[in-house]
Order: sequence, then structure tokens, then C-alpha cells
Amino acid sequence: METKLVKAGETALNEAAELLKSGSIVAIPTETVYGLAANAYDVNAVRSVFRAKGRPQDNPLILHISSMEMLYDITEMVSTLSKRLAENFWPGPLTMIFPRKPHVPAETCGGLSTAAVRMPRNKFTLELIERCGFPVAAPSANTSGLPSPTSAAHVFDDMNGKIPLIVDGGECRYGVESTVVCFEGDDSVRILRPGAVTPEMLREFCHVVIDNGVLEMISPDAKVLSPGMKYKHYSPSAEVYILKGTDKNTEKFINSKKMNNVGFLGSGSEELNDSIIRFPYGKSPEEQAENLFASLRKADERGCDEVYVRMPDTAGIGLAVYNRLLRSAGFRIIDLDGGENAVHE
Ligand code: AMP
Ligand code: MG
Repeated sequence: METKLVKAGETALNEAAELLKSGSIVAIPTETVYGLAANAYDVNAVRSVFRAKGRPQDNPLILHISSMEMLYDITEMVSTLSKRLAENFWPGPLTMIFPRKPHVPAETCGGLSTAAVRMPRNKFTLELIERCGFPVAAPSANTSGLPSPTSAAHVFDDMNGKIPLIVDGGECRYGVESTVVCFEGDDSVRILRPGAVTPEMLREFCHVVIDNGVLEMISPDAKVLSPGMKYKHYSPSAEVYILKGTDKNTEKFINSKKMNNVGFLGSGSEELNDSIIRFPYGKSPEEQAENLFASLRKADERGCDEVYVRMPDTAGIGLAVYNRLLRSAGFRIIDLDGGENAVHE
């Protein structure tokens, strides 16, 4: 199959809408990462998404909507709190989990009785969903397990030959996937996956619990609320390690690496030997979110065998950065200030 790359605009809108209406799949831009879109109500289209990504069948998809009417078509259980959160964070990077109506296919939802729903903040994609008139299931448009795509070029690398169309809407604003929450009672949410809508922001509206799975390793057999979180994820071919330590200890450690093809993601102010390959990362949580996936992909392009990433600050969107990085690194943290350079696995 030939894969077309078209800039977001009227032509792309027509083509993408036609493809989605006829049961095909299309890569689309959002404010978080690029999505691989299909009609969420069309089981065959949804199966094509799982196939193109190589995604495990029990990892549910998020339904993207363009209006509250679409939410009422998916669920009967829109609580006062979920309405308030929708008013305040939609369109935006917040996914909420609701019991699904029987006509929402089980396949779309990984066999669960619930559906995850969000309204994305991207003009092109909102218009596209509106024009289709059905919710669009759209997981990240990468091969399952690889870092999520934050540009159309990343999508092309993974999906060339597998899908008919990629819509190029430029670089994604946030660079990490949406915050996923489920409801616990009338005034409490549990964060299953952190994102740009932070615990601090949600606390203005309700009680917030952060699920243990956000920062802890989940066994592959465990029964969990958010099945996607148990898979090894966001990983380049290079071996990723998290470096916890002061500037001085970090420089000493990384500069002691004598082999070639060692990658490094840091604040930018570290002094590195010429043999170490630096990739963009940054100091603020926002910069780190924007850069993390793109830099892990670049490290693979440069043929890095190992990539060392400095421990992010976990405030704000930093919790999402740390959550993704832990999975990229298979939970390997090298504690440089601990004395023995212990690797915690
Ligand atoms: P992705 O589409 O790749 O961004 O991943 C979607 C994430 O949302 C995964 O971590 C899923 O496990 C989670 N998710 C989707 N639907 C549900 C649901 N019904 N219940 C719990 N988690 C969900
Ligand atoms: Mg994904």
C-alpha cells in the first residue's frame, strides 16, 4: 500500500473523512501525540488499527469525540463531576473512563465494560470527527512498544506501507499522551496514566488518587485498571537508563563511558566529552515532555547502543515524563549519589 503524506487542510479533511467513513484508517495530529484513527463503532476498522500497530488485543483504545452529544451516545453515566471536568479540560489532554453502552464494540475497549473518552484540542481533528459523525478510536500512531510519534515524520517511519494516509499537522504541542482517569465515587478520580492535565490541576475540582501503576512496575499477569500500562512501552532499540544524581556526578559517570554511540539527554549545561552524543531534552518539565520521545527516536537513528536520561522533576507534566521514561528504561535507575552507583531494577 502506498502511504500519502498530506498537510492538514481542506483536501486532507475530505480525504481523511472519506477514508474513515469507508472503514479505513488514517494517522491524525492531536495536541498530545499523533493518533491512528478508525471509526470506533466499526469493528473491522478497529481491527485494522490493532494490526497496523501490532497492539495486544486487550489494550483498549481511546474514543475521540467532538461534542458532548457523542459522549451521551457512548455512555449513560455522565456524572456531575465528569461534566465539570469536561467543561474545564475539554477540548484537551484529559481522558475519562465511563461504563459503555452495549452498541460500543467490546473490541474497541479491549474487552472491558468501560470506554475511555476524550475531546482532543486540535482544530483539524475536531473538524474531522465532526464531519464523520462518529467517535474516532485513535491510539498513538506508532508500532506498539516504540516511542510515541510527535511528528508526521515519526508516523511515516513506523506506518509507511501500512496505512493509506498520514495528515501532517506539525509537531505536537505536549509530546506525551493524555492523562487517563477513572471515577471513584462522586468526588474523586484515580489517575491511571499521568499527562498534561496534572494532579495539581485536577485537585481544584476533586479528590485525586495516583494509581500505584503510575510509578511502579506492573507484572504482565496482573489484573489492572488500565491494561496499557503493564506493557513495556515507549522503548527505542537502544538500552535506556535513568541517571539520578548531581550535575557533577552525572558528568563524571557519563564521561567515563569509553565506547562509541553513547547517547545522553540532559539539561544542556553538562560538560560532555566529544564522544558522547547529546540529544535535546531540557530543564523544564514542559520541554522534557516535548523532547523525550523525539530524542529517543533520534538516538536510534544515530545508532546509539545506550542512552542515558537525567531523572526528571516530577512536578506538573514531569510526572508524565517520569512515567513514560520509567517504561522506556524498563525501570532501570542508576543512583549516582547513592555511593555505590547501584542499578535499581
Ligand atoms: P494509547 O491509545 O496508546 O495512548 O493508550 C491508551 C491508554 O488508555 C492505555 O493505557 C489504555 O490502557 C487506557 N485505556 C483505554 N481505555 C480504557 C478503559 N476502558 N479502561 C482503562 N484504561 C483504558
Ligand atoms: Mg500508545
